[in-house]
Order: sequence, then C-alpha cells, then structure tokens
Amino acid sequence: MDLGLKGKKAIVCAASKGLGRACAISLAREGVDLVITARTASDLEKTAEEIRQMTGVKVIAVPGDISTEEGRAAALAACPEPDILVNNAGGPPHGDFREWDRDAWIKAIDQNMLAPIFLIKAVVDGMAARKFGRIVNITSASVKSPIPVLGMSNGARAGLTGFVAGLARQVAKDNVIINNILPGPFLTDRLRSGALAASKQRNVPVDEILAERAAGTPTGRVGDPAEFGDACAFLCSAKIGFIVGHNLLLDGGNFNSTIA
Ligand code: NAP
Repeated sequence: MDLGLKGKKAIVCAASKGLGRACAISLAREGVDLVITARTASDLEKTAEEIRQMTGVKVIAVPGDISTEEGRAAALAACPEPDILVNNAGGPPHGDFREWDRDAWIKAIDQNMLAPIFLIKAVVDGMAARKFGRIVNITSASVKSPIPVLGMSNGARAGLTGFVAGLARQVAKDNVIINNILPGPFLTDRLRSGALAASKQRNVPVDEILAERAAGTPTGRVGDPAEFGDACAFLCSAKIGFIVGHNLLLDGGNFNSTIA
C-alpha cells in the first residue's frame, strides 16, 4: 500500500535510537524528509547519515533536549511547517513514589506530557490551515495498564493522553489526525537497561530476564523496533484520516482483554 507520504516533512523527536529511530526509518522509506532530534549530537548524526544512505531522503539532525523550550525551538526552526510530528522522549526512572520530590515530577511532566503538548501547540494550526497533519505520540502500555515501579510514567503520560483525546476531536475536521501508540516491551536500550537493573537486583542473568519478558507475551517474544516504526508510519499515512484519537497498544497481545 502506498501511504501517500512521498515528499512530506516530519519532525521525529528523540530519534537517534530505539523506537524514535525506527519511526524515522519507516517514514524515510515512504519518502518523507526528516528533522530528527536527540541530546547526544554524535549518535544523532550517525543515525541521520544511516537514514540518508538507506533511503536517500533529506535528514537534518538537530541536537537538543526536547523537554526544553530551546530544544523544541531548534527542531521547529529546522522544520517550521511539518506535515508530520512524532512526539517522543526518554522515559522517567523506575522507583518508589515516596522517593520522588517535586523536581523529579516536574522533570517527568516536562518530558512526557508538556513537551509533546507544546510541540503540538506550535504546529497544529499550520497543519489545519494546510489541511494535512499527522501527529503520533509515543506513550506507553503503562497508560492502559499501570506499572507500579513506573509511577511517573503512569501519571505524566495519562495526562498527555487525556489532553490528546480532547484535541484530536477538535482538529480532525481539518484533516489533522492525532493518535497515540502505546509500546509494550520492545528490544531497545531502554528495555536492555531495565533488564540489566532487574538482573542485578534479582541476581539472575540478564538473558534470563529478557527471556521472561518474551515469554510473558502471547507472541513469545519482545517487539522489534522496526515493527513499531511501521505502525507509526501507517498512522501517519494520508489514508488514515478516519482513525482519530486512538491509543494503539503494541504489546504482542500482553494486555488480556476481549476488546483491546
Ligand atoms: P531508548 O532506546 O533509550 O532511546 C531513547 C531515544 O530518545 C534516544 O535517541 C535518546 O537519545 C532520545 N532522548 C531521550 N531523552 C531525550 C530528550 N529529553 N530529548 C531528546 N531526545 C531524547 O528508548 P526507547 O525504548 O526507544 O523508548 C522511547 C520511549 O518509549 C520512552 O519514553 C520509553 O519510556 C517509552 N517506552 C518504551 C518501551 C520499550 O519497551 N522500549 C516500552 C514502553 C514505553 P539521547 O539520550 O542522546 O537524548
């Protein structure tokens, strides 16, 4: 299926590694020119060059912290009129909520709730005026099924989800379509570092922890970031204008329910 995206422009946040990188690659394969961001300039430029070599699209690497105003301004300056915005950032730390002070919460809310909201605010009216926009927010399965040690993720991302649910219905008439994708376990650095921490805590080899994660899903495996990227590209397609305000859970069937 031709997704109808050739020649479009996208900002993909937090895209030097993991799920953001996979989204950038899948969009580039559809002929989308990219602005990609991440804090570590060397990793980001490496990914940008890989995508250029792989697909031939234009890729501008904009280093910066997307949870800051400066980071967002730099991305928007490189692509003031995006057709597509993929919101993403690192996740908040694991822990016990009794140990988190106000600063820790503000950091999580800045990163996982306010950064996407302010980027949406910056681009949504232009998208509406041009009668095309696709926005995908990378959130987490924790929005649907809270993870006790990820209280800040559960909370901050739920705030974003509530906001998006309302806005998605206000802008759809102008062909600006906003959806969220909720990753379950995908094999990225974040999953590996979580597995490493669990391996130290439980004194169990890291491979065993990863095998447990895999066995815990009906697919018997963890997700491949490329699968996530392709789902993201699909939700950015010109052809999905009637899929509005959804929360697409990509967890290999882990969440047990009659209707997902
Ligand atoms: P990852 O492999 O650790 O990659 C994170 C990427 O984001 C890197 O490119 C990183 O580069 C960039 N980044 C982090 N914080 C940033 C910031 N403030 N500004 C700009 N770039 C930033 O993580 P991932 O697994 O792809 O996860 C992506 C998101 O999905 C996270 O929010 C994570 O919590 C969520 N999630 C992931 C899973 C999973 O199984 N992988 C499951 C549920 C939810 P720099 O460090 O250089 O900035």
